[in-house]
Amino acid sequence: FAKQLQRGGLVFHSNEIDQEQRHSAVLDQGLKSTQLTEQLFLVYQAQVDEHGQLIGFEALMRWQYQNQLVRPDIFIALAERNGAIYKMGGWLLEQACQFLTWSSTIPEFASCRLSVNVSPKQFAHPNFVPDIIQSLLNHKIDPQRLHLELTERLLLENPAIIVQKMQDLRRYGISFSLDDFGTGYSSLAYIKNLPLSELKIDRSFVKEITNSASDRKIVSTILLLAQGLGLNVVTEGVENLEQLTELKKLGCKQFQGFFFAKPLRKEHLLTSIPQFKADGS
Ligand code: C2E
Ligand code: MG
Ligand code: MG
Ligand code: MG
Repeated sequence: FAKQLQRGGLVFHSNEIDQEQRHSAVLDQGLKSTQLTEQLFLVYQAQVDEHGQLIGFEALMRWQYQNQLVRPDIFIALAERNGAIYKMGGWLLEQACQFLTWSSTIPEFASCRLSVNVSPKQFAHPNFVPDIIQSLLNHKIDPQRLHLELTERLLLENPAIIVQKMQDLRRYGISFSLDDFGTGYSSLAYIKNLPLSELKIDRSFVKEITNSASDRKIVSTILLLAQGLGLNVVTEGVENLEQLTELKKLGCKQFQGFFFAKPLRKEHLLTSIPQFKADGS
């Protein structure tokens, strides 16, 4: 009979763990394949203001491997561990530049920003800063249009070097958002010293916003904190009108979520512009 393992209150059967391990070994190999970048693509999720006007997009990576889409949180974590994240990061940077070049030819998108997620290991690479600056120069892209989303996990690494790199990029015109704010480890002392321009309120605070007084309190407090520090706020994971209405009442002004748009491939963005304008009003 199956051995059982008690882990944080959950019971796993040992064969489930074996399967999980085999699965990650397969993914691990896949990430090391020379064909990796041919299996990657980006989807773009709209970010809108309180009037439903488009302000920008977040680029989200997808990996189609053996006819299946692997969940980003799974493959990103594996890629960080086995080093594939560097190859992905280079590919992503090139794609981001191509997107920004393309979008500047489309009037509705020309002033839009692009937010790109950066994992701690990528950020820690010695060439991270020069690679970004060089790419923007090569593609003649206005650095103001690029936003980098960092997570609080980054702050666990050497803070002095992180801050230095952030300052170098900030001076060049690139902006920083702190992603999934409130779910990580950041202390206010760190945040105070980082050249951030934005906080992204994590969707876990949005999910129950209509019936949770404590989530409403948390959101209000984050807004107050951001205001005090002069930071912009984007609220993530808005799925329905009830949540949006509540968030607007609390003072949220910028949003991202399935209510406005799912993450879409570049070629599908144009057909969904009118929808952004209609929904938010
Ligand atoms: P994230 O940066 O916080 O991205 C937002 C996630 O929330 C995305 O999941 C998006 O599809 C999802 N989302 C957006 N609106 C809604 C909504 O209304 N409801 C719900 N339930 N979900 C919503 P996704 O694409 O699965 O990505 C998961 C995470 O993987 C991202 O979280 C980010 O941390 C990481 N990730 C994705 N792409 C990249 C990348 O290119 N580089 C790095 N380093 N990390 C990435
Ligand atoms: Mg993000
Ligand atoms: Mg997030
Ligand atoms: Mg996240």
